[in-house]
Amino acid sequence: MVSQTSTNEDKYISSVLILGGGSAGLLAALTVKCMLPQYRVVLVHSQEIGVIGVGEGTTAVFPAHLFGTLGIPKERFYREAQPTWKQGIRFLWGERGDYFYDFGFQYDLQYPGMSKATGFYCDQECTDLNDVCAMMQDGKAFASGPLNKPLIKGEYAFHIENEKLVRCLTNIAIEQGVIIEEDTLQHAEQDDLGITALHFTSGRIHHADLYIDASGFRSELIGKALGVTRNSFSKALFCDRAVIGGWTREEEPLQAYTTAETMDAGWCWKIEHENFINRGYVYSSKFISDEDALAEFKKANPKINATRVVKYLSGRMERNWEKNVVAIGNSSGFVEPLEATSLAQIIFASRWLVELLKQQQHRATAAGRERYNREMGRAWDEIRDFLAFHYKFNTLRDTAFWKHCQEHTHLGEFQEFFEMYQKIGPAPELVNALPFKPNIYGIEGYLAHLIGMKVPFHARHEPTAEEKTLWQKHRRKSRLIASAALTSEEALAAIRKPEWSWK
Ligand SMILES: Cc1cc2nc3c(=O)[nH]c(=O)nc-3n(C[C@H](O)[C@H](O)[C@H](O)COP(=O)(O)OP(=O)(O)OC[C@H]3O[C@@H](n4cnc5c(N)ncnc54)[C@H](O)[C@@H]3O)c2cc1C
Repeated sequence: MVSQTSTNEDKYISSVLILGGGSAGLLAALTVKCMLPQYRVVLVHSQEIGVIGVGEGTTAVFPAHLFGTLGIPKERFYREAQPTWKQGIRFLWGERGDYFYDFGFQYDLQYPGMSKATGFYCDQECTDLNDVCAMMQDGKAFASGPLNKPLIKGEYAFHIENEKLVRCLTNIAIEQGVIIEEDTLQHAEQDDLGITALHFTSGRIHHADLYIDASGFRSELIGKALGVTRNSFSKALFCDRAVIGGWTREEEPLQAYTTAETMDAGWCWKIEHENFINRGYVYSSKFISDEDALAEFKKANPKINATRVVKYLSGRMERNWEKNVVAIGNSSGFVEPLEATSLAQIIFASRWLVELLKQQQHRATAAGRERYNREMGRAWDEIRDFLAFHYKFNTLRDTAFWKHCQEHTHLGEFQEFFEMYQKIGPAPELVNALPFKPNIYGIEGYLAHLIGMKVPFHARHEPTAEEKTLWQKHRRKSRLIASAALTSEEALAAIRKPEWSWK
């Protein structure tokens, strides 16, 4: 099939060709089709090449986008993608060795009656600071509501097996009018203004007004065809491989959080699917060989059977929108899944693209591209800097790798923010030291890790006797809610009952 449209600068856009049918291509296709239904959206993917098959933790952006913006019915998504819930991440990390980071607020708030924000009271313990963290600590997922039903609301995320997610999104995209074809790109034709045609092995040729490169690490269009170079994140992130494996769940309780555990030359995730536990050791090949990483991984996880190694480079494209090509997903950039940020970045990229197309009356103007590249570049760089905080201050293991991280990790644009934290501590005024606003993590994200890892600051506060009593009262309130809350297994059983309603 050949659709005829030529490519001109500032030309009216009404058709989009997406190369790639992984989670990036599918989420981009659904977002464009849902928010700009008048567009013709064609997605071409290669079965021969396949999808990466990893990417199983989301942030709270994901359900909000799927159920809110895209209007995907919850019943259907739970039935087809079979997600489990993720309320946050448990870090086995830093001086304390254990703390939780959720999607709400622990530190960027001040309780009534307290003279300081919560971070000033966490010298001894940083548990039970809010209901969600108390629930995670107790192995629970959601507070109990009327008739002991789970209150599934607020800022929660998912664990989803990549294959099930891709299958579910493919079905929905087809129903929404996205044209999906199976084929492998042979070569891209181009002129000074960008791609003019894509030639596939079947002999088909595709033309479109705008091309989305969602071809994963291959970066077929933005990288190989247009030659955009990658900015490396090697000053902040030293890991470059992951060995992945898992086992069928046995008696292990289904936790409503991802675990990130410190290892000798990196860290290991634990992702909780209903019937499977997925683990992956992210490591630096400069500090450990593949064989030794596998041995350490297996020793820590004796139930693991088959494993595979994924190699990657941390970094992002210098420009994510070049000429008439926009890169989304792993083709646009990649960081390790320490905060499971990729799916959120895909959603941000897709929504921002649609927003700009609307604002620019469906034209790819130079000014629009410039704004897109500035915003996406900044988002990638903030994620890099956020992850850098995790590495620089983790003192849990005294290995060569972690010493290197403490000495050499660059905090990038957040260096001054950190220096201000050292002076004034976890105070709300820190917001003034953020390098730009709005930012992805607010000050909450940074404080969760700085306080979680007990990174010292000068402006100490000695709580009064009254504050100490109030503090314990606040924590007890969360503890009480957690003790009555429901586990993930109980919540899953509840939503599968015939009388359950999502309304
Ligand atoms: C070890 C690891 C762990 C991760 N964990 C997480 C996580 O917990 N959370 C998270 O959000 N993200 C995670 N990610 C990132 C995750 O990979 C991405 O979020 C997501 O899956 C996006 O992948 P993609 O669609 O860009 O690429 P892919 O899944 O690789 O899809 C690329 C698509 O392009 C097609 N394609 C490529 N070349 C051609 C061609 N020549 N012709 C036709 N089609 C072509 C392929 O067939 C495929 O359909 C992880 C990544 C790694 C490496």
